[in-house]
Amino acid sequence: MNLDFTPEEQAFRDEVRAFIAEQYPKHLGDTGLREDLPREDFLAWHKVLGAKGWSVPAWPTEYGGTGWTPTQRYIWSEENARVNALMPLPFGVSMVGPVIYTFGNDEQKAQHLPGIRDGSVWWCQGYSEPGAGSDLASLKTTAVRDGDHYVINGQKTWTTLAQYADWGFFLCRTDPDAEKPQQGISFILIDMKTPGVEVKPIKLLDGGYEVNETWLTDVRVPVENLVGVENQGWTYAKFLLAHERSGIAGVARSKRGVEKLREIAGSEQLDGEPLMSDFDFARKVSQLEIDLAALEITELRTLAGEQAGKGPGPESSILKIKGTEIQQRLTELTLEAVGSYGTPYYGSIANDTGSNEYQIGPDYASHSAATYFNMRKTSIYGGSNEIQRNIITKMILGL
Ligand SMILES: Cc1cc2nc3c(=O)[nH]c(=O)nc-3n(C[C@H](O)[C@H](O)[C@H](O)COP(=O)(O)OP(=O)(O)OC[C@H]3O[C@@H](n4cnc5c(N)ncnc54)[C@H](O)[C@@H]3O)c2cc1C
Repeated sequence: MNLDFTPEEQAFRDEVRAFIAEQYPKHLGDTGLREDLPREDFLAWHKVLGAKGWSVPAWPTEYGGTGWTPTQRYIWSEENARVNALMPLPFGVSMVGPVIYTFGNDEQKAQHLPGIRDGSVWWCQGYSEPGAGSDLASLKTTAVRDGDHYVINGQKTWTTLAQYADWGFFLCRTDPDAEKPQQGISFILIDMKTPGVEVKPIKLLDGGYEVNETWLTDVRVPVENLVGVENQGWTYAKFLLAHERSGIAGVARSKRGVEKLREIAGSEQLDGEPLMSDFDFARKVSQLEIDLAALEITELRTLAGEQAGKGPGPESSILKIKGTEIQQRLTELTLEAVGSYGTPYYGSIANDTGSNEYQIGPDYASHSAATYFNMRKTSIYGGSNEIQRNIITKMILGL
């Protein structure tokens, strides 16, 4: 792939850059990946993009996609990462949306795709259960047919930001007697306001609130909310996971993170010299950049494949592993660079806009420890990296 931008691509980049400069909600500032924002802040940029027709670039054009080339999508990600934009959340845009337009019926497309596009409907993911994470096919939540409804009972866990969700996509067991556990699972859409749905917070060690337990007790869901064919949900679930994993790679954001790390290491001192001139530290930063460049090319190849009609397959596991390892190393090096300034605990105070709480050390240090710890999650969610290695071994290497 030729990575030099053509004049048309440069014009596109200028257009995108100007649009972001003008339209990105100013009050969001440099929020980036923060998980502790009010619902409206999470949706602010999504709504602007929805109005412009740019909220779901990767979708087929008939469902509202932009039809951008892989290079245009690359430019789009880069330009958003430049301002650390808070991008539309993945649960609707890159997870359930593609499942609905690929496997859903016309009514489901008409009912659900517009709300995902314009950012008015928030989705959550009900896959994992206590005892069914890596071994997802062992899930126990049941959906039992009762006339024109399913009656659903069970417990999901780690449901990210379900406290804001209007709808959820859930994996439920519809055939407990199937020969293989994968064969008895269905993919069902649930209105989170349905009686019997209960979302309970899982409070994190630092007081943060981004994950939940979701309890389902005699939840009556119309059979129209079944996506595709009953007991075929495992196929749709895997299709969704491939989309989810590709999205986790976060190359453009990591590139910006490396730039920031270089700035920090240029300001921090070691024995009277900028840390960046320390050979050992500079070597670690360079190695990170080399790995990131390799990942970027791999991601571009995947994007080009998608353009040619090849959806993300098992190679999304490579993107997931490498992307999350890089994100974690980036936070490790940032914490190393700020040294003892990373130690003070600010809780949520430092996050509050307009807070005048006394802060020890430079701004860039205040969240470095919290971010370091929070980013440990990336090698677990979306299917742990060990499981991704198993997938690569089986599906790509054929071992
Ligand atoms: C922050 C966060 C957000 C999440 N959000 C959601 C969400 O919104 N919706 C949702 O449904 N789920 C969500 N998850 C759940 C996530 O998908 C699971 O945590 C993940 O799949 C791992 O499952 P587990 O936690 O049950 O760990 P386990 O499956 O118990 O695994 C424990 C350890 O054993 C290893 N292991 C297990 N089996 C194997 C094997 N066969 N080979 C090698 N190693 C193995 C794993 O890699 C891991 O290190 C989230 C998780 C986190 C941390």
